[in-house]
Order: sequence, then structure tokens, then C-alpha cells
Amino acid sequence: MARDRLLEKARALQGVCACGRKHELTTREICVGREMDERLAFYAMDLCGGGRALAVFDENTYKAAGDRVMRTLASSCGGADRLVLTGGELHADARTVGDILLHMGDQTRLLVAVGSGTINDSCRYVSHRTGLPYLVVGTAPSMDGYASSVSPVLVDGLKLTMEACAPAAVLLDPEILAAAPRPMLAAGLGDMLGKHIALLDWSLSASVLGESFCEPIASLMQEAVALCEQSAGELIRRDEGAAAALGRGLCLSGLAMQLMGNSRPASGGEHHISHFLEMKQLQRGEKPTLHGDKVGVATLYMIDFYEKLYEKKRALKPVDLALWERRLREAYGPAAEGFLKISPLEKGEALPREQQYQNYLACFDAFREKAQALKAKREDYRRQLDALGGPTEPEQLNVSRMQMREAMLCAFLLRPRYSALRMAFYFGWLEEIVDEIFA
Ligand SMILES: [Zn+2]
Ligand SMILES: [Zn+2]
Repeated sequence: MARDRLLEKARALQGVCACGRKHELTTREICVGREMDERLAFYAMDLCGGGRALAVFDENTYKAAGDRVMRTLASSCGGADRLVLTGGELHADARTVGDILLHMGDQTRLLVAVGSGTINDSCRYVSHRTGLPYLVVGTAPSMDGYASSVSPVLVDGLKLTMEACAPAAVLLDPEILAAAPRPMLAAGLGDMLGKHIALLDWSLSASVLGESFCEPIASLMQEAVALCEQSAGELIRRDEGAAAALGRGLCLSGLAMQLMGNSRPASGGEHHISHFLEMKQLQRGEKPTLHGDKVGVATLYMIDFYEKLYEKKRALKPVDLALWERRLREAYGPAAEGFLKISPLEKGEALPREQQYQNYLACFDAFREKAQALKAKREDYRRQLDALGGPTEPEQLNVSRMQMREAMLCAFLLRPRYSALRMAFYFGWLEEIVDEIFA
């Protein structure tokens, strides 16, 4: 089983690595297969210790897997309770987190998140706060957060990344995954395609800034993305193998983050743009679109960005920090202060700008090649997303071209992490490159 080999490979990376880090995994198993019920029974029995399990659903995931999950839990724990979250648009916020806490009893020993985004983020956070273990039964290959160890939680209208803990196991049944709504398949593919940019940003940072880079983890991610890409065309026919490959790839992203101890292997400029767009959607009181949808569109734009960045060798230009601070304050609104505090513009990076620039020149040809290789695949990616009904243009995300331009200019501030966007900012090229894309 070539695909399961990747999960084995992830497990084998635990321990001291040539990159100098000690890699660890919290998640014991990712099971993508028909044996989902057996594995759920095994973990429920192992983790419950005779206590009760609380399974958390929304109405759709209850329909997709409710009977199976409740039957399995009832026979392997000292009892099983369920919470079906209702009430339209769900967020990982005070209401959902509170709801889960209220439905836990004295005997609850295990949480089981049945679903993707919101349900997982909320259960993961509650699991961390209460110290109870949790399992994931995934119902759609729609996002890369299944095996994550942090939770984006909406606090007072701001999405904050809260410390949480990774699930003991992630269980996915290809039959359920393949039956997921098509937009969720498109979102999963979008999130997965984003890994190309995440990996490129990471290696750029390693080359230009000297950030620590883990070759085995990066190549594991490359393989996972390649597998998803190969079968992406089959997703439209709801092929179980293709849905399983996508599910595996998304879970592997989570394992790569656990191994690295941060989201570096799975998140770069494309995710920063996606998070920025979501922050703006929330600030405007709009319903946020699927995470993977935004990542997919941002990935296409980042491919363009890399192409322009490596089209020619540009000379260093001065950066008007006061002007940028005004622009960023306007774009981030009430959130600006916090972000500017985390990564102050005038502070720069560990290496002086001139030194970064020399490093950029030294590896220009290698990155130019990578940028061109991605550009050559751009139309394939666009077509694959489009075929699944996924968005490929900002307008399909309810984002205007002006708002997309703003996101590309301002997203670098969202995380204190080096990326092509951030490098272009330091070198004084960010606005001119973005203008070339939107010309
Ligand atoms: Zn993602
Ligand atoms: Zn390593």
C-alpha cells in the first residue's frame, strides 16, 4: 500500500533528526479505510476506561455517520452521549465550546469529534482545557486540521490560534469521504494545493534567512501532495481511492505539523492570505467561505506572485515604514495593534536586509526554476478546482479584486513568519509585484 507507506514514514521520523530537532507525534494512528468502526471501538475501549464518551456532531455529520458512531461507542464504552450542534452557521466560539462543556457529565472520559472544521476545532480546544482525550471521525476531506494541535477559536470577533492538543487517532472511512458534498472535496483539494506554496516559502526562508529546515518532513509533504494531485481528477466521480488519498494527504499535513512542532510545513503565504480574507469577512459580519476555498484561490495568486518575483533580478528598494504602518493599520482595523506588536515592522529579521538580498541572489536560479515549474501546473490546478465546483477567482469568494489586492499586500503581517510576501516587503518590491499581478 503505497499510500499507507507515507503514514509509516511519518511515524518513522519520530526521534532525533538530522535537522537537529527531536520530532514527536501525539496522534497514535491515522486510519483511512473500511475498518474505521473497529479502530473506533479499539480506541474508545482503550481511552474510556469504562467511563462514558461524548460524541459531537452537526446535523449533516450526524446523518453521515451518527448511527454507526453511536452504536460503536455504546458497545465499547461505559455508555455514550451525543451532542448534535444545531442553529445554522457554526463557529468554534464561546457558544460551541460552552455547548460541549455543558453536555459533558461527571462520567465523561472521552470526546469524539465527528465532522471537520468547527467541530474539530471546538472539541480539540475542550479536550485541551479538560485534559480528556479525543478522537476524530472525519466526514469530509475538506481541510488540513484533523491532526492539528492548535485550534483557531473566535474570541470577541477575532480568530485566535489557541493552544490545544492533537487527537489520539483520526479515523476516516473512504466511503463517507467520497460521499461528502462536492464543494467540500474542492476545499480539501485547495488546502492541499496550498502546500506547494507553504513548502516553497519554507525553503525560501531556509535559503535566504537560514531558518531551520527539515528535509525528510518537507519531502513527506511533497509526496502527499503529489498523491492527491495524481488522483484529483477522479474526485469528480466520487472515487473512494481519490477521496482516501485526499483525506490521507490532509491528515499527513497535520502529522507534519506535529513532527515540526509548528505549522511551517503546511502553511505559508497562501494561508496568511486566507486567514486575512477570513478576518475581513468576519469584521464585515459576512459568512466566511470554506477555509480550503480561500487557500485554493490564494495558492493560484501566490503562484503568480512567485513567477513575478523570479522573473528578473530586481534591485533593493527603500521601504517607507511609516506609510506601510498606516496602510496596515487601516487594513487590519481593531486587530492592527496586536499584530504590529507581535511582528513590529522596524524590527526586521535575524539577518540584515543586505545579507538576505545576497542570499536571495545566490539561490535565484534554483527558485526561478521552482517558480516556473509551479506556473506550468497552474492551469491544471485551476481546472481541477473548477471541475469540482470550487472557486478559482476572488469574486467566487465574495471578495473583490481590490480586496484580494489588499490581502496580498497586508497578509504578511498576520504571522511573524518569513515568506515570499514578507521577503518582497523587506526588499521594497511587495507593492510593485502585486500591482503587476493585478495590472
Ligand atoms: Zn489549511
Ligand atoms: Zn527533521
